[in-house]
Amino acid sequence: MSDTADAVVVGGGTVGAWCAYFLRQAGLARVVLIEKGLLGQGASSRAAGVVRMQGGTPEAVRLGQWSRRFYLSQRDEIGTDSGFTEQGYLLPCFTEAEVTAAHARMEMQAALGVPVRWLDPGEVDAANPTLAPGQTLGGTFCAQDGFISPPRNVAAYTVALIRGGVEVREHVAFRGLTAGGRGAAADGRGVVVETSQGPIDAGLAVLTGGPKLAEVGRLAGLRIPAGGARHQVAVTERHPDLDRARVPMVFDLAAGLYWRPEEGGLLFGMSNPDEPPGENREVDEEYLAKMRARLAALVPVTAGLGLRRLWAATIDYTPDHLPIIGRAPGLDGVTVASAGGAGMMWGPGVARAAADVALTGSSEVLDVSPLGLDRFDEAGHSRLATDPIALPFPERIA
Ligand SMILES: Cc1cc2nc3c(=O)[nH]c(=O)nc-3n(C[C@H](O)[C@H](O)[C@H](O)COP(=O)(O)OP(=O)(O)OC[C@H]3O[C@@H](n4cnc5c(N)ncnc54)[C@H](O)[C@@H]3O)c2cc1C
Repeated sequence: MSDTADAVVVGGGTVGAWCAYFLRQAGLARVVLIEKGLLGQGASSRAAGVVRMQGGTPEAVRLGQWSRRFYLSQRDEIGTDSGFTEQGYLLPCFTEAEVTAAHARMEMQAALGVPVRWLDPGEVDAANPTLAPGQTLGGTFCAQDGFISPPRNVAAYTVALIRGGVEVREHVAFRGLTAGGRGAAADGRGVVVETSQGPIDAGLAVLTGGPKLAEVGRLAGLRIPAGGARHQVAVTERHPDLDRARVPMVFDLAAGLYWRPEEGGLLFGMSNPDEPPGENREVDEEYLAKMRARLAALVPVTAGLGLRRLWAATIDYTPDHLPIIGRAPGLDGVTVASAGGAGMMWGPGVARAAADVALTGSSEVLDVSPLGLDRFDEAGHSRLATDPIALPFPERIA
């Protein structure tokens, strides 16, 4: 007897897992999630957890808004949550050009309902007493932005998958796709999903993979311009000045350095944009020293503090730093989803939109029509403008 499912989702990160959950919630009887290792073993358990609605494009804003609302609704819906904490997020400006860009962005964000406001330099210093005074020309601030706990998010989606009735298969790798499966519904359309434990005759398939999405795509015969790059995160020792009440989250956009409070210390993270992309989980001490120097210039109290935690992991990215949500060209019943390196702030929204697209071709989360694979040319260049609020990742794929 052949193995069948209404839907097979590839990848047990935040995008695949929440997508499988939403497909099951939408009424599909048999949803199978395959993960080549363990749930959350990719980028999703290693992230910094920053969630912001202050996006650089309307799509980014909508995905941030949807995901934040989802995080707030989780306890009622699934009995646990991803630990969303409303902390407030400041994006300071250091040049006049940044001030002009920030005002334009704020106008777009406010029109979409984000409660973002401008803080003048004195207000920035008052709102953030750990920041070296007199450094900024002001900045945008949204009190409703915050952060989740990435490990808790993995636990939350694990609970949701199991309670929701998704069949989770860990240690099962995706190997490829062929057209013509019938799926459990046997309506005559679908795909056969090849796995390390044999084929699954599926009604539809959703491909995710975070930093490994290009590889997942290749196995399906698709060219997906998505990559991975090393990203470092560290947490300082505790210090009374770093009490949660005194430290909004901050994104020093020009430098690509962000920080937020974490258990009485400061969590900070950054990628090296000059480093060639690729899988890498080794700590780069030299670059860490640069991160620490920039942080100490802006938050002097961190200069003398030791580190309690330090890790490097591979973060996913797309050439325009925007998500990929769309049906796979030429493969009936196959949808591709990537959060483009922002799976904590956009992940649930991307997952829900991908589930909607897989089922109906469109989504109420946002208009996904610009976000498909057809926006990239043969070389992987996007015809969309790059999201201006993103970590400085490489714009090319390795
Ligand atoms: C250090 C770091 C800090 C970050 N900080 C933030 C942040 O503050 N805010 C934010 O929004 N985002 C952040 N991110 C990005 C965020 O973590 C990712 O965008 C998100 O986790 C991607 O989710 P995903 O489900 O697409 O990928 P992943 O979590 O990587 O999951 C993909 C899964 O697919 C599996 N897989 C791969 N190939 C196969 C196969 N052939 N068969 C079966 N399974 C397969 C992998 O094992 C993996 O478990 C950070 C990332 C890193 C690394």
